[in-house]
Amino acid sequence: MIVSVRGLHKRFGDLEVLKGVDLDVARGEVVVVMGPSGSGKTTLIRCLNLLEEPESGTVSVCGTELACGVRRPVRQVRDLRRRTAMVFQQFNLFPHLTALQNVMEGPVSVRRVPRAQAAARGRELLARVGLADKCDCYPAKLSGGQKQRVAIARALAMEPEVILFDEPTSALDPELHAEVLQVMRELAREGMTMVVVTHETAFAREVADRVVFMDGGTVIEQGPPSRFFTAPDHPRVRAFLRLVA
Ligand code: ADP
Repeated sequence: MIVSVRGLHKRFGDLEVLKGVDLDVARGEVVVVMGPSGSGKTTLIRCLNLLEEPESGTVSVCGTELACGVRRPVRQVRDLRRRTAMVFQQFNLFPHLTALQNVMEGPVSVRRVPRAQAAARGRELLARVGLADKCDCYPAKLSGGQKQRVAIARALAMEPEVILFDEPTSALDPELHAEVLQVMRELAREGMTMVVVTHETAFAREVADRVVFMDGGTVIEQGPPSRFFTAPDHPRVRAFLRLVA
């Protein structure tokens, strides 16, 4: 397993958001996490790379087990974040850097890749997401779909073991969803391990190996999309699918 989560608990003050989540993700697997707003989906994937610190439970990534609630070396956290790149709903690009500089930043400053090498690789990655002609553009000059594709190229530049996507299309106008989903579809086809929080049911049906459904801070159902979308066991999943599918 690339990711293995056991008994994960997380609270914000009085609000218990994750109430004992178990999750396994195998190498090359595409796992789509669905569920109602507030069910803890984003918090779960943020716990996978310690953008949130869980209270209890264990997170193992690429064989390294991280106990919760303990101080850990900065190096360990940095290594974990490199292995588990995150693509955010709001892109989180550096506004003062061009698309290429955004993509180069992690390799140069974290992985100590020489600038010329990082730039060459950055150009390749921007070409791969269809943005070869936007290398020198600043984020303000790009559409939302283009910004998100830069963010995906930036994630790839770290050569992660798994990419975590937090509602990658939900900040975009509907006509821009397709270009981002197409890039994600290609990554999946190339064998990238992906955990994707999304409401995009068509994407989940076509690309996911497994859909995980969260409700109230736990996983209440999971299975291949062929079963999840046609014959879910749980009434709450059936109710949710009637609303979104
Ligand atoms: P989902 O992704 O399923 O919509 P989230 O994981 O974003 O759910 O949020 C779960 C709950 O945790 C929500 O009630 C949200 O308001 C709360 N929450 C998330 N992040 C924070 C935070 N940093 N501080 C306080 N509450 C938070």
